[in-house]
Amino acid sequence: MNRAWIESLPKIELHCHLDGSVHRSRIRAFLAGRGEALPADFDRRISVSEDCPSLTEYLRCFELPLRWLQTEEGLEQAVIDLLRDAEKENTRYIEIRFAPALHLEGGLSYDQVFRALERGRAQGEKETGVLCRFIVCAMRHHSEAQNLSVLEAAQRYFPDLICAADLAGDENAFPTTLHTAFFRRAQALGIPYTIHSGETGNKANIVTALELNAQRLGHGIAMAGDAELTERCRERGVGIEMCPTSNFQTKASAGWAEYPLKAYLAAGLKASLNTDNRTVSRTDLNREYLRAMEEGGCSRAEILTLLKNACDVSFAPAEWKRQYLKELAEYR
Ligand SMILES: [Zn+2]
Repeated sequence: MNRAWIESLPKIELHCHLDGSVHRSRIRAFLAGRGEALPADFDRRISVSEDCPSLTEYLRCFELPLRWLQTEEGLEQAVIDLLRDAEKENTRYIEIRFAPALHLEGGLSYDQVFRALERGRAQGEKETGVLCRFIVCAMRHHSEAQNLSVLEAAQRYFPDLICAADLAGDENAFPTTLHTAFFRRAQALGIPYTIHSGETGNKANIVTALELNAQRLGHGIAMAGDAELTERCRERGVGIEMCPTSNFQTKASAGWAEYPLKAYLAAGLKASLNTDNRTVSRTDLNREYLRAMEEGGCSRAEILTLLKNACDVSFAPAEWKRQYLKELAEYR
């Protein structure tokens, strides 16, 4: 009963990485096309399970998909595949993340990467009716100059294709304080941003994100139990993009018993549910919502609040948001 209800809901996905969500069959075909044998541990090379030991192990699963995503055809197809997946689960709007600098190994320019995504989106939106925007990720281990160059290239595609910026990668080794110039520049350009913050215990990155006026936080788990930080986020209406399955796999959280989802909702935070990486985490958006109900103990009212929050903090056009909230209001 819960499943049918979850599936019927019009949904929004705010935190989904393109390279972590490519279809297994595409990578198999890519390797076969190059005459490479399928690695014996293929499944473990692209997806983790709940016994994944750490974020480091998790991040290894991006290597193979990124090899495929070095051509315009690959990028285009990956977007179409993802929009088809979104349509099947009744997701109406999706913000897809990608790091432009990770798609240049085959000789593509930033513009070629953006245009390939634009073509994939045009076909995918037309075919599925799912509305799609992209978030450009700077990488924590890249230099300030390299990340700023991504922003300069991306600004020409804002706001129709690119709706926001983000910072991804190893949070502890490369804290957000190293990248303040990137966000100051985004602010000057009028590009909003969400920042991966507090995924694996680093509360300082959440504090920095607030100082930088981030509109949203990716994960935000490290804030659990900190009343003052929670209140600061509530006051500003900062969106918290939660990704339960991924958070358990990376050991950001030990499990539902201590997962702060219901606590964040009770505190009035703009929390939402997301997949993070559909292929790496072996999940989809219906599964995240179903788990929140059946394992996390969320009520129907709380599920509807999560969707309303996602809409409120999304970077979707204002008119689209109004229509969506009108439709959502009919669900009980
Ligand atoms: Zn992420």
